[in-house]
Amino acid sequence: MDFARYDGDLKEIKTLFSITSEIIINKFSTNPEDTACDWNEAQERYEITLGVIIQEFKYYLIHEVGHILLAKRLQYPYFARTPTELKTTATPDQEVIFEFSNHIIDAFVDYVAFHEFEVNYPFFIEFMDALLKKGISSRADIIYLLKAYIYFSLQLRFVLKAYDRVLRRDKIQLFLSRLQHLIKLKSDRYSALLTKLDSKIDLFDTLKSSRDATEILNFMLNVLSELPLKNLDNTFKQWFPDGTQGDC
Ligand SMILES: [Zn+2]
Repeated sequence: MDFARYDGDLKEIKTLFSITSEIIINKFSTNPEDTACDWNEAQERYEITLGVIIQEFKYYLIHEVGHILLAKRLQYPYFARTPTELKTTATPDQEVIFEFSNHIIDAFVDYVAFHEFEVNYPFFIEFMDALLKKGISSRADIIYLLKAYIYFSLQLRFVLKAYDRVLRRDKIQLFLSRLQHLIKLKSDRYSALLTKLDSKIDLFDTLKSSRDATEILNFMLNVLSELPLKNLDNTFKQWFPDGTQGDC
């Protein structure tokens, strides 16, 4: 796969975000959910894996570089990298906590990378419209549904600009209600969980442009504490250690 053809876009995004660190695109996956950014300690550079759906490609690239932008802005490297010791040793329970966390970080990333940088915003709209159109499979498991509920609540209610939200009001309402419905079908107890989750998710509005990493980490943990996750506090601390060690 020839990654060189994306160099122009990458350079343009780095310039826009004033990022000088070395970033390379080093892998390609046909699954868009594999898209990720991480720090290569030995090479001292960020490496992006792209899962490409062509029309959404530019969203993914901006989003991944956006992780680095958020990390630098908040002086907290773990918004753009995973702790070395967990890269190969994370258990499935630990992975789930990371996935939930990452879905929340994604909203902070997108708020900065697309909402604040207006020139990028059309790629966000294009991506959200594609996701709304794609919908959610009724066969999805509860973890997937809860992750999606958190992700879409944050993105559609707070990252999307008010004008675009109004334009899509019915579509968004239908989409989130369907997600709620699918979650409640799994068990009665999720009804109360969703209410509590909503009240915590609402706090995103006051934090979305925060420059305080601790504030954001507390918000994440606060949201996740409503979910049935094993060993949450300890695992969260492992994925998101205190301090700002490491390159950023
Ligand atoms: Zn992300």
